[in-house]
Amino acid sequence: MITLKSKREIELLTVAGNIVYKTHKYLLPYIKEGIKTNELDKLAEDFIRSQGATPSFKGYNGFPTALCISINSEVVHGFPSNRKLKNGDIISIDIGACYKGYHGDSAWTYAVGEISEEKKYLLEHTEKSLFIGLEQVKPGNRIGDIGAAIEAYAKEHKLGVVRELCGHGVGVNVHEDPEVPNYGMKNTGSRLKEGMVIAVEPMLTLGSPRIFVHDNNWTVDTEDGRPSAHFEHTVVVTADGYKILTGE
Ligand code: MG
Ligand code: MG
Repeated sequence: MITLKSKREIELLTVAGNIVYKTHKYLLPYIKEGIKTNELDKLAEDFIRSQGATPSFKGYNGFPTALCISINSEVVHGFPSNRKLKNGDIISIDIGACYKGYHGDSAWTYAVGEISEEKKYLLEHTEKSLFIGLEQVKPGNRIGDIGAAIEAYAKEHKLGVVRELCGHGVGVNVHEDPEVPNYGMKNTGSRLKEGMVIAVEPMLTLGSPRIFVHDNNWTVDTEDGRPSAHFEHTVVVTADGYKILTGE
């Protein structure tokens, strides 16, 4: 069921989204060669709690940590570990925070040191595809308009679209209806209405979009081992478009 959020709910979702945004900003100077991904997880969890919030993903269906940290070919749901970041890695950090029962959700892919030209291309165009998708977010448009725009942009730039994972509604649950696929047909799916809150989150690959799941039953990786990137914002549908809750 898709819910429309009240003014008060949107205020709480705005605070939650802002905490997620500030956590990304807080982590940025630490994303360097040599740091272990579980050190980033600890920093983020402490920061989220210092803001009066809790990490949305920790304990979600048994997920073990505050952050999902996915490196290079890993698409999403990587477990923070003793693994150290290396120069040339790309690292997707997905952050969820819950404030007074309301969630924010945002993922960003970062470069560690100097990365290859093809990884730069992947990051630039996956980030762009998020905003191309968001341009479709306005009352009267439909969910399929978002996916169709992302898919067309990815195709134009010869990037693969991971189809098994989607964006989603956000509210008292970090994942709510509707599903927001990164592919689809224009003019199909639920109609967007003022007060809906959704996360749009393209996951694009340099090679094939085919994926597999690691033995930990969580971490999603590309089948061909080629890099993938993930950019996500939580937004509220406004009277004439959208407002990003997990940005500045
Ligand atoms: Mg996320
Ligand atoms: Mg999400």
